[in-house]
Amino acid sequence: MTRRESLKFFLAAGIWTALKGRVNAAQPTSMKDIENLQKNWKALLAEGTKLPLPSEPLKLSKEEWRKRLDPTQFNILREEGTEPPGTSPLNNEKRPGVFVCVGCNLALFTSEMKYESGTGWPSFFTTIPGAFGTSTDYKLILPRTEYHCIRCGGHHGHIFDDGPPPTGKRWCNNGVALRFIPCDTKKS
Ligand SMILES: [Zn+2]
Repeated sequence: MTRRESLKFFLAAGIWTALKGRVNAAQPTSMKDIENLQKNWKALLAEGTKLPLPSEPLKLSKEEWRKRLDPTQFNILREEGTEPPGTSPLNNEKRPGVFVCVGCNLALFTSEMKYESGTGWPSFFTTIPGAFGTSTDYKLILPRTEYHCIRCGGHHGHIFDDGPPPTGKRWCNNGVALRFIPCDTKKS
């Protein structure tokens, strides 16, 4: 290798390392990274988007919910249904943005909290802080942790302990219960 060739080699290696560093930086490795994802979630919200706060509860009657939601959404959000795996277009949603509750528009997750779990349901390793309440359900005999939107009470999914580090959690969400707002959307 001539001096010039070796210079090129080291330059290329340096760029490669820098790129790799960037990719790694995007994947949270510590709970500090998770806290930062949670704290900075609004960076992924499309400019000008107005969303409700978790502290503004939305309480509607069953009949009002039936009018507001389509039958599939109603079944999942208000009757704790589960969509068949692999049916949600949001499984393949990889653009930057924010996932909100289809029932009440509360912001629940960002694209940076999503990962490919291979289960057929949109999966997240953490959530926007304060977005959900939890309860224990015994529908499948073994207890499971059910979670629901803190604002409208709509059921979204279950939490499992087989998620990626550092949280180790999988928030397994029904795609039907979510609406995705891409970051580059102009006022919605
Ligand atoms: Zn909601």
